Amino acid sequence: MRRAYRRRSDGAEVGRAHGSRLARRGPNLLIDGNPILVVWDEPMAGVGRPWFECPRCYRRCRDIYFRQLACRRCCRLDYASRHLHRQTPAVHRVERLRRKLGDCDVRPFAPLPERRPGRSKAYHEKLVAMVHAEEGKLLEHLGGIVHDLSRRIQVRKGRHQW
Ligand SMILES: [Zn+2]
Repeated sequence: MRRAYRRRSDGAEVGRAHGSRLARRGPNLLIDGNPILVVWDEPMAGVGRPWFECPRCYRRCRDIYFRQLACRRCCRLDYASRHLHRQTPAVHRVERLRRKLGDCDVRPFAPLPERRPGRSKAYHEKLVAMVHAEEGKLLEHLGGIVHDLSRRIQVRKGRHQW
């Protein structure tokens, strides 16, 4: 999306992107002779928040990457967290809940510990119920994978490729 700037009578430039008002307050940056605009919005009245403006796509962004002087999207960069633990996301949730329980094996389906001294019974039972619910979802997910694999094996056997 390219943002159009309007020039106000007082000389300040104002643009609109994602429904928020952006006003240039400067100072902008100059990196190896390349100007990087700093644009501002006001998430709350009187509170300015600076952004860089990507020199390529003119989107506002938090970071500019140095090799190409462009934003994350233009450099085709991605966040590792979008890919880690993605194949079976329930495993990650189960491990996190089990760590909250404390003193237990964090792997799914391992035995659950007794209530920690000093912890309320209600909270312990709530965590245990959440662990069971997430493990149930995980089991369902894994069942789906097994079903899919069995189906693929049957198809391959039918084609004599197994
Ligand atoms: Zn960009």
